[in-house]
Amino acid sequence: MLSISNLNKSFGKLKVLQGININIFEGDICAILGPNGSGKTTLIKTILGLVIPDFGSIKLNDKEIINTWSYRSDISYLPQITNFPSNLTVVEIIDLIKTIRPNTKMDKELIDLFNIKKSMNKKLVDLSGGTKQKVNIILTFMSDSPIIILDEPTAGLDPISLIKLKTLIIKEKEKGKTIIVTSHIMSFIEEISNDIFFLLDGSIFFNGTITDLKERTNENSLESAIANLLKQSHV
Ligand code: ADP
Ligand code: MG
Repeated sequence: MLSISNLNKSFGKLKVLQGININIFEGDICAILGPNGSGKTTLIKTILGLVIPDFGSIKLNDKEIINTWSYRSDISYLPQITNFPSNLTVVEIIDLIKTIRPNTKMDKELIDLFNIKKSMNKKLVDLSGGTKQKVNIILTFMSDSPIIILDEPTAGLDPISLIKLKTLIIKEKEKGKTIIVTSHIMSFIEEISNDIFFLLDGSIFFNGTITDLKERTNENSLESAIANLLKQSHV
């Protein structure tokens, strides 16, 4: 279980996370939603140790993880922005990650699934945005970790790849994995996750299931429920 309590982070005068409390249970697919700049990526980075919070606690299975590092081998992470050396080819980056990450497998299946065989010898700099994202997804799902964190995995994907990603996530959930995901595509979130954390200006404005949220807002779709929440926040 991942348990975050009273997490705070400022960048200079900008308070980005303000007293965040979150519990994520093993086997959950939980969605962190919120408008641009609400603190989703910063929150994810604190879980990974890429941003050190000012205060608060993050416990993984009852152990404090802030300023430790060994737990990271249990997390597969798809960053919102990747910065791999752009001169490497797709096959080279896949081989490189295989040497760095523990428990890598499935790369052949994933390459087939996302149909990128034609691009294997292209340099990362020469790939289209969508193909680059497919490579990022392959690099993430290649390592077999109990926790998967996906920061906007749907960015730039065509509809067919989106369905493939959805199937992949559901398969991993069936293996008992814990998945944390952000996305602006509400139909995608609605199909894969049940627990929602809606961030607004660095605080959790809503936490509950999609059903709770629809009931609270009296809306039929997640998209309109979120729009309704945002309207409420401006009152
Ligand atoms: P989201 O992922 O929800 O779009 P972010 O967590 O990326 O939001 O950003 C939240 C706020 O924190 C934004 O105003 C962003 O500009 C700011 N921010 C994020 N990282 C840094 C940083 N390293 N230094 C200064 N400001 C930052
Ligand atoms: Mg972000």
